[in-house]
Amino acid sequence: METTSLTIPELRQKLSSGAIRPREVVDQLAARIAAVDPKVKAYLHVDAEKARAAADSANPALPLGGVPIAVKDVINVKGDPCTCASKILEGYVAPYDATVIAKLREAGAILFGRTNMDEFAMGSSTENSSWGPTHNPWDLDRIPGGSSGGSAAAVAGHEAFVALWTDTGGSIRQPAALCSCVGLKPTYGRVSRYGLTAFASSLDQIGTFSKTVEEAALLLEIIAGHDTRDNTSVNRSVPKYAASLGMGVKGLRLGVPKEYFIAGIDPEVEKAVRAAIDAYRGQGAEIVEVSLPHTQYAVAVYYIIATAEASANLARFDGVRYGRRAKNPKDILDLYRRTRAEGFGAEVKRRIILGTYVLSSGYYDAYYNRAQKVRHLIADDFRQAFKKCDALLTPTSPTPAFKLGERTQDPLQMYLADIFTIAVNLAGICGVSIPCGFTSGKLPIGLQIIGPKWGEETMLRVAHAYEQATPWHKEKPPL
Ligand code: GLN
Repeated sequence: METTSLTIPELRQKLSSGAIRPREVVDQLAARIAAVDPKVKAYLHVDAEKARAAADSANPALPLGGVPIAVKDVINVKGDPCTCASKILEGYVAPYDATVIAKLREAGAILFGRTNMDEFAMGSSTENSSWGPTHNPWDLDRIPGGSSGGSAAAVAGHEAFVALWTDTGGSIRQPAALCSCVGLKPTYGRVSRYGLTAFASSLDQIGTFSKTVEEAALLLEIIAGHDTRDNTSVNRSVPKYAASLGMGVKGLRLGVPKEYFIAGIDPEVEKAVRAAIDAYRGQGAEIVEVSLPHTQYAVAVYYIIATAEASANLARFDGVRYGRRAKNPKDILDLYRRTRAEGFGAEVKRRIILGTYVLSSGYYDAYYNRAQKVRHLIADDFRQAFKKCDALLTPTSPTPAFKLGERTQDPLQMYLADIFTIAVNLAGICGVSIPCGFTSGKLPIGLQIIGPKWGEETMLRVAHAYEQATPWHKEKPPL
């Protein structure tokens, strides 16, 4: 098997036995990227020389010793550019390491490359990147999902072993589904957000992309945990997630929310997800129907809360403190105005305007406050559902990957791509998307497994049981 197709445990085994050296791993990854990335365009920035130097001092005895990891362009890695795929951060170099990066370094990982994304993680197709879109490795005319299309495409196309990402409304799970990889969004507060460029602070959470559930579990063990520099990170012990993966689903109750099988869902997606539910029944799980009655409000609530938070978070990009600065300003206001007008793309501007509007006096109660109340109702739906079951099974995305350009003129259609993932962020719970088959046109389909707060252990065990019984995760795109 090619080195770039190995899973982390397989790679670790070869590294620790001396069968392969860390530098060779970096070389092979760089060669794979050179061969396929001109078509896929998953990476924004690759510094193979820096990775080679890190490989030469890698310690194979550490848990990730010599393992290269790709990172989303919103997470600060000291000395590297961190543009959030935005022109406004052109030229910005991160002055410090995010906590997750420090943890990966401690575990011996080699930080390798920054992947493409929608500008400031706003989007569902990676078409909002200032540096051009990423292509889906399963069909280069289609989008890889978003906002983390670059990471999903890199992992699916074996241009990266694993990648770190953020999920605010589905950015890990939706592209994982559309590219056939495993995308894990942990419980809000599980992983430190220190050093992450904020989009919507009450929704953002760092998670992982990988080829298998076991890798997701191993990575989560490393990046999770309390951090005094992020006051929303929670002081709670981190379980050994990988240890309980093999326990199967016998005796577990798995809920199927009826609101997630709606008109408009692609029939092939529904069929694959229903087949997965049957497979769980066959493995001894008890399948129960549950209801999440406020599901229909999730997209609307999200686009009020996320835009409100984004409008506040993005105020700091003013041409004074970070990155780009407009040339020859007349005065300070002209500097702010022109820097922001030139630096932000159309979708980011739309969200700043929407967010400013819903927070403005007179509209605050009608929109923002009301959205916060409905958010509580959505979270409560999940609390009630988890009284009846241990995890939920749903489709991750209502459709397979759509064509590049198909939804760019219609923001509402684009927003609906996250209809099944957004509520999980609003409720602060955890979710994972795993491969669950392909359409007749060989486009990937994802199954979403949702767990309650701090329910990662059981959720990953449920994911692993299906993955191990099916061949989907072993398939590789025809690149
Ligand atoms: N697609 C959603 C949005 O555009 C979610 C993105 C994300 O999770 N970062 O906001």
